[in-house]
Amino acid sequence: MGGAAHASGGGHGHDQHNGHGNGGHGHGGHGHGPAIVRHRDPGNRVVIVGGGVVGSACAYYLRQAGKEVTIVERAQFGRGASHANCGYVSPSHVLPLNKPGAIQKTLKSMFDRTSAFYLKPRIDFSLFGWMMRFASKCNKKDMIEAGHALNPILQSSAELYKELLASELQETEHEAKGMLFVFKTEKMLAEYDAVDALLREHFGVGARRIGGDELHRMEPALQPGLAGAYFYDIDSHLRPDRLMGAWRRTLESHGVTILENRPVKQIRKENGSARAIVTDQGEIEGDTFIFAMGAWTPKLSTELGCAIPVQPGKGYSITMARPEPCPAYPMILEEYHVAVTPFASGYRLGSTMEFAGYNDKLNRGRLDMLRRGAKEYLVAPTAEPVQEEWFGWRPMCADSVPIIGRTPGLDNTYLATGHSMLGVTLAPATGKLVSELVLGEKPHIDPEPYRVTRFG
Ligand SMILES: Cc1cc2nc3c(=O)[nH]c(=O)nc-3n(C[C@H](O)[C@H](O)[C@H](O)COP(=O)(O)OP(=O)(O)OC[C@H]3O[C@@H](n4cnc5c(N)ncnc54)[C@H](O)[C@@H]3O)c2cc1C
Repeated sequence: MGGAAHASGGGHGHDQHNGHGNGGHGHGGHGHGPAIVRHRDPGNRVVIVGGGVVGSACAYYLRQAGKEVTIVERAQFGRGASHANCGYVSPSHVLPLNKPGAIQKTLKSMFDRTSAFYLKPRIDFSLFGWMMRFASKCNKKDMIEAGHALNPILQSSAELYKELLASELQETEHEAKGMLFVFKTEKMLAEYDAVDALLREHFGVGARRIGGDELHRMEPALQPGLAGAYFYDIDSHLRPDRLMGAWRRTLESHGVTILENRPVKQIRKENGSARAIVTDQGEIEGDTFIFAMGAWTPKLSTELGCAIPVQPGKGYSITMARPEPCPAYPMILEEYHVAVTPFASGYRLGSTMEFAGYNDKLNRGRLDMLRRGAKEYLVAPTAEPVQEEWFGWRPMCADSVPIIGRTPGLDNTYLATGHSMLGVTLAPATGKLVSELVLGEKPHIDPEPYRVTRFG
């Protein structure tokens, strides 16, 4: 990676648990009480808030451009939504969640706790505002428009992953096998024919339709007698916690500093610019600030001075030993909305979407739904031992398009958030775009659809 040498000398710059440590980065933090972390190269200092897959990709491309980069993480690097999601890198996922009929489905789900999509009935004005925006986009015209916004960043990310996985990100268990959308019923398979036609017509994204018999031959881990599947050969998958491990090794080897256990509470501002972020352990100064806090980003919307219509969309996963037989392909079991990901080192069932605010309870009922759904399709749906039961908050943006760009009120502050169900897939192109915007370079994709100001 090129560019200026990192002033702190790189190495393991992260500050695990020490309230006063400065992570080997610059000055400050030697004495008692709050410290100011100062960087040695004023003008070149980028502070990224949030150590998820999106913050990591931003850090990588900015460091590659020669910036002195520090990631500031509330808890532990890579333990947010980026930790145990389904690991799909899926450029085929062009269509947004905002679809005709989605809002009726949502309202129905408010009264059905067993629905994969669940909205907990409660008084929450931010959720209400989000739902209004979401609902206003649930029509065919806006759905196609959102698809056109998503397609370039999906395609660019897929290309960038090829480079990153070949050169930098090692031991991610990445496999480029494609992905199956599996249907139990002829009715649902026939309904998907129209979606396939639409994806071909508008976006040039086609899949191969596979009948039930061929499907069973192709993937004997599936039960016989299913209706069929659509197969997307452009998709691939990896193990997300391994990806985050690879990001950490890569970033630290290039001299990015990672500071953990530092929730950012405020922004110190002067004359329309951010000067520092404020944590319990003092301030961290910078010249450019990127907020990549995933589902938590709206918590700083007042500080940032802009609307951030993002809600936590809670999803679950269970990771276990590989069953016998283990699926060869990652797959979405369409009627039950369960995602299945086989890894070299395990096997994961994931999904469900719960709008319940920042609720951090692990709901066993949701985990059981994953098991029950898998049982309808797979010869061996589960296995022992269970390695991890997990939930994560997806940063669900009301229009299903990520929010990437400069904030309107602070000239050196950027958002990279709202990646909804596609953060792993979209991270590389997000990072590259953020770097281009910060550097004032010609962006490799049109940044207009992602602009922060589109919400007024
Ligand atoms: C069950 C499930 C399955 C999924 N499957 C897929 C998939 O197959 N493919 C795909 O592309 N996407 C998938 N997703 C979506 C994907 O996981 C997210 O879009 C992505 O991880 C978001 O990345 P992020 O970096 O924006 O957020 P996160 O990974 O959540 O990172 C944000 C970080 O910011 C930190 N933070 C928050 N507040 C502060 C603060 N005040 N100060 C400092 N730090 C702070 C958090 O601690 C966190 O580490 C799935 C999600 C779930 C839940």
